[in-house]
Amino acid sequence: MSAVNETLIRDVVAEVLGRLGNGATTTTKPSPAPAPAPKSDSCGCSVRKTSAAPALRGKFGVFTTAEEACEAAQEAFLQLKEKGVAARRKIEEIVKALAEKNAEQWGKIEFEETKIGRLDHKIAKLGLIKLVPGVDWLRPDARSGDHGITLEEFTPFGVVGAITPSTHSIPTLSGNIVNICAAGNSVVFNAHPSAAKCAAVAVRAYNEAIYRETGIENIACIIEKPSLDSFNALCKNEFTRLLLVTGGPMVVKAAMQTGKRAICAGPGNPPVFVDDTCCPTRAAKAIISGAAFDNNLLCIGEKQVFVLDHVADKLMQRMSENGAVKLNASQLEKLTKAAFTITPGQGGGCAHAHTNKDFIGKDTSVLAQAADINIPSGTQLLFGETDAMHPFVQEEQMMPMIPIVRVKSVEEGIALSLQSEHNYKHTAIIHSHDVENITAMARALDTTLFVKNGPSPAGLGLGGEGYLSFSIATPTGEGITNPRTFTRVRRCVMVDNLRIY
Ligand code: NAD
Repeated sequence: MSAVNETLIRDVVAEVLGRLGNGATTTTKPSPAPAPAPKSDSCGCSVRKTSAAPALRGKFGVFTTAEEACEAAQEAFLQLKEKGVAARRKIEEIVKALAEKNAEQWGKIEFEETKIGRLDHKIAKLGLIKLVPGVDWLRPDARSGDHGITLEEFTPFGVVGAITPSTHSIPTLSGNIVNICAAGNSVVFNAHPSAAKCAAVAVRAYNEAIYRETGIENIACIIEKPSLDSFNALCKNEFTRLLLVTGGPMVVKAAMQTGKRAICAGPGNPPVFVDDTCCPTRAAKAIISGAAFDNNLLCIGEKQVFVLDHVADKLMQRMSENGAVKLNASQLEKLTKAAFTITPGQGGGCAHAHTNKDFIGKDTSVLAQAADINIPSGTQLLFGETDAMHPFVQEEQMMPMIPIVRVKSVEEGIALSLQSEHNYKHTAIIHSHDVENITAMARALDTTLFVKNGPSPAGLGLGGEGYLSFSIATPTGEGITNPRTFTRVRRCVMVDNLRIY
């Protein structure tokens, strides 16, 4: 090959790689962070460029203010745009690998900081991040016809502001990064104040590894000491294009009032209905494993059971045989007094129960002590018979204690399930082999997740078919979040050409 040809080929290869955003080469060699750009005087228009100020360097995503975090995330978004799909893929790979590798250590620091849930399940949740869908999820939609071809592509927004719960801080954050960055965005987190330190540890580790491999320093940012003020600043920031909120009713309401588009993964209170056609052993085992998982902190976790009266004893017998412990009426009353504060109704209104935070996500041993009962160590779940209006039924109590309510008919079971779900439209579960009952409950409850004949986590691909996310967008309707949730659909039309037959 002549020297001229060799030079030409080298130039062509370099140009092609350049056009591809150099994605292929970024996976091994970090490119230097962009040089600080000179600070320009603002002209007052809303299209402001990032400053790439030195203050953003060396933080690896952990910032004191929302403004800095958003500016760094905007810069990272632009870098990711340049580096292309290969860099998105690398980020997905890194987050999944580090979550698994650090599952034990990070599970421990989250458990020590929040003091809720179960250490073994905190570790297990981090080992599951590999099941969260990433880059491969996004496939453009193409049309071809007499007038040419049209392509609809799923393109990024920019910076996503994300709020994470105390109940699974690092798992939610990790799954969110996979989804959000796979779609080409960057993200700024305002974590729950009681689970923010562990979140910052994970964010820093992710960014350090991502920087080493791609040269992007702040693709996932976090506000080190989150507060309501930092939440407001994050929502208001000009770079924040979209919000993802995972939490209870207050934060969902707050996000919806910001004026920004909000994807809300809100609260649930999942009912279970058990009829007389199901296998009681299978139902009992499923209820125990779903409700006991992480001491019932999961929003999808079984929170109350309605069972046909003539099979209730059999179901409870199977629950006892499979490791759950039944509380009698006086034990249940003692636990209820300790676990809830009942405020009397005002002006003829109903009394209202508030869950005592000291019991949320605590082990069965803590609940048993309040109920004044000795239980074998390692007991997964407590249960007891209640009426349908009991606080354990009506409140999203997040404790390893499940109330069992007898019902006289399928209709009553479905009606009470619907009432206790409070229109969150989150999750419902049925144990039945009767398709008419299953269909009737599915239609009546109208929930985002509906699980039949299995534990609730089966709805997130854990023992059932499907994929995983720790953010299930319920009131806003996006469902189990995935990369496509964080995209803008853009259409590109070629008129009369490129249809190739
Ligand atoms: P939480 O509502 O107390 O807190 C969630 C997040 O919102 C935290 O970051 C918190 O700091 C913030 N926050 C709370 N009130 C706020 C307000 N008024 N303004 C701004 N920010 C506010 O919830 P939690 O105890 O951390 O988590 C449990 C709740 O989250 C349960 O209701 C559960 O069902 C829900 N959850 C839902 C999903 C889902 O995918 N749908 C997943 C996990 C948890």
